[in-house]
Amino acid sequence: MPQLAKRMGRAKPSAIMVVAEKAKQLKAEGRDIISFSIGVPNFLPGDHVYAAAREALEHDSGQYGSNRGSNDLLDAFLGHIEQIGLTGYTRANCSTGIGAKHILYNLGEALLDPGDGFAFCTPYWTSYLDIGEILEADIQLLPCPPEQDYKLTPAQLDAALAKKPKVFLFNNPSNPTGMVYTKDEIAALADVIVKHPDTWVVTDDIYNRMVFDDVGYHNFVHARPELRDRVVFVDSLSKTYGMPGWRAGFMVGPEVVATAVTTMNSNHITNLPEIVTAAAVAALSGPQDVPAARREEFQAKRDQVVAALKAIPGVTCPVPQGAFYAFPDISVAFGKSHNGKVIGNDVDLCNALLDAKGVACVPGSAFGEPRGLRISYTCPTPQLAPGLQRIQEFFAELI
Ligand code: PMP
Repeated sequence: MPQLAKRMGRAKPSAIMVVAEKAKQLKAEGRDIISFSIGVPNFLPGDHVYAAAREALEHDSGQYGSNRGSNDLLDAFLGHIEQIGLTGYTRANCSTGIGAKHILYNLGEALLDPGDGFAFCTPYWTSYLDIGEILEADIQLLPCPPEQDYKLTPAQLDAALAKKPKVFLFNNPSNPTGMVYTKDEIAALADVIVKHPDTWVVTDDIYNRMVFDDVGYHNFVHARPELRDRVVFVDSLSKTYGMPGWRAGFMVGPEVVATAVTTMNSNHITNLPEIVTAAAVAALSGPQDVPAARREEFQAKRDQVVAALKAIPGVTCPVPQGAFYAFPDISVAFGKSHNGKVIGNDVDLCNALLDAKGVACVPGSAFGEPRGLRISYTCPTPQLAPGLQRIQEFFAELI
């Protein structure tokens, strides 16, 4: 029997999907389940997006398209990022892909040779680790524990970049913590990056429209424009417009990188489908009331989640200011037991919470921080309060 490639030993199915599947299965068995597990938006894009897709279907050419993305898509993306102050780029600085995940994978292939340093923070979005492992990069984790609000400090970054990693991958707002870096924090990190010219910087900022409390979205190139020749910004339709299944992602950065990603497209996918392209153009350049309304909804839900968590003795939660996640430190539960089941770690806690209370969350170890627990608050609003109450009850019942 021939063997699978060795890299398959390093590639794992997503831990988030494992929890989501278990919750789905229990629901199918008739259990009353509230899912705070998967980070899917609970909304759809406006009618104009569906109208554009229908129109494209009527006029579908049936042909292969551009490896980089159609001109109208690239122009729509350029217009979209101008609204967050990323100006002065041209089509040659951009490329597209089957979601941000695919763009990140393409960037990894384009920038990292086996053994190259690949630095990113913990807690991290799960795929960063998988992409690094599949590509055999030398992964350098930068621990950002709850005591520092899950944020990277300039001194930490300075020490990390002194080791000359080939790529530093940064994520703001963060999945899983929801933390958002302020303008001053970004400026301080940008000052450090300027001192280390050997590292590409990828900012995976797909939640850039989901920022609360008027903190605003800030990028290293806002603070230090000279970084434009090393910084790659990654965006996606998935969370902003409630279009995860449409699979459209984008990058803007140095021409050489955009061309490399386009070359990877020519080998992997050829092009985004015409219908997806039309829907994406409509989403990016049409009315923006869907993301604006959702931002308000999520900010209100964030307040509810944080208030509920703060009321649990011993649980702490740095206040998230973006995306739709909270990441409390739940280590107070470790060593206690619930209904006779010992809670040794975050995985035990998630299993016990799901079994006893029907609430699905993702263990922090899936993101490299075993003291945490990710709560994704995209569930329908009426489920939020009961779900949070069940979590409070669970902690109250620990002995
Ligand atoms: N980056 C982050 C931080 C994410 O949370 C996600 C989706 N969960 C992605 C990238 C991938 O997004 P897409 O659906 O565009 O592939």
